[in-house]
Amino acid sequence: MNSTVVADSVRAAIARNAASTLLARSTALAACTDKPGEILRTFLSPAMERVHQRMQPWFETAGAIVSVDRAGNLRAFYPSASNENSPRLLIGSHLDTVPNAGAYDGVLGVLMGLALVEGLSGRKMPFAVEIIGFSDEEGTRFGIPFLGSRAVVNQLDDALLGKDANGITIREALSDYAAGHPEAIETSLSSMTTGYLEFHIEQGPVLESKKLALGVVDSLAGQSRCHLVFNGRAGHAGTTPMLLRRDALAAAAEWMTRCEMIASNVEGLMATVGQISAEPGGVNVIPGTVRCSLDVRHTDDTVRGQSVRVILEEAHAIAARRGMQVDAEEYHAQPAVHLDSAMISLCDKAVRQAGYASIRMTSGAGHDAMVIAPHLPAAMVFLRSPGGISHHPDESVLEEDVAAAIHAGLCFLDEFALFLAEKEGNPIA
Ligand SMILES: [Zn+2]
Repeated sequence: MNSTVVADSVRAAIARNAASTLLARSTALAACTDKPGEILRTFLSPAMERVHQRMQPWFETAGAIVSVDRAGNLRAFYPSASNENSPRLLIGSHLDTVPNAGAYDGVLGVLMGLALVEGLSGRKMPFAVEIIGFSDEEGTRFGIPFLGSRAVVNQLDDALLGKDANGITIREALSDYAAGHPEAIETSLSSMTTGYLEFHIEQGPVLESKKLALGVVDSLAGQSRCHLVFNGRAGHAGTTPMLLRRDALAAAAEWMTRCEMIASNVEGLMATVGQISAEPGGVNVIPGTVRCSLDVRHTDDTVRGQSVRVILEEAHAIAARRGMQVDAEEYHAQPAVHLDSAMISLCDKAVRQAGYASIRMTSGAGHDAMVIAPHLPAAMVFLRSPGGISHHPDESVLEEDVAAAIHAGLCFLDEFALFLAEKEGNPIA
């Protein structure tokens, strides 16, 4: 068959049927877990292997050739109408989970790729489609995220010595995997790959608050992580007068409310203190030392950098006023990633063509697209998360929103074909 554009009513009908199949498949894959009683799948684990086995016949029936690569990523190749040297569109997300996960984070994006090639009903595009199920995004096993996507863009080397809870390094885990999977293909991307598209549940409440099914992501926020230690003085809770105390926890608490206020006054800024411990920790002892974390996110790296400085200066000022010291250190900084404007426009157009309102969104969470975007023109589409619930067994997605995403995705495939043809100066009829 050729790449004749399909009528929109046909796409809508295909999408409605495919949405219920996608949800049933998500439920089936949720049963592949490393921990009975909850959903947990980690890098190169037995449950991940079972997910690959479950998915393989689905992809093969859709006309795709299925492999795993040496980093344990599932790779399904749906050929183009012409030949092997055609451009290639990569569609994917991750198949690993956090502990006690929901059934859609990551998996949905991989099943979307499958639903889209199935939705072509045997029709071949002028480009090949490769669907990728990344082996690790969450970092659950090694504490280091994005192992699957980093391997694909050859940026795993500095993580290879990371160890899991059993002392196994990533390097060892990979070489064991390669030994058990001699058929595994090269991990790196084909040089013909010309774009990356990721569908993902939003993991937040924005689309729901706007009563929208879909959103087009234009950027992923940069992140700073800091450690702080407030060094006060421990003392007797009954004998130390209030004005003579150096209560490290009271200082930290004052600083935390300032963090909240500072972030609330800057558009798009998120600042979170997620961990705190007080020592010595006695009910009748004034806290002498408080250790806490700080996570700051914004899509503008300058705003993020300035905000981190202001928030840490505030910690020093509060500590000084209370007669104590604070040690503060930024130990991790990940720059913001801006997705590709041409790919974003194609997504906007596809969502509108499918009959849905389109908004541009920022992702506060990290995604595989963040790792891929510096190497390939990338775009992301979010699906509404009911209740904004994510990384939780109650995470869900509405069937009608999945249908919207599949419909928009099918429109995207035709838009992408036109885009490639125009780029090559060879418009297709
Ligand atoms: Zn995810």
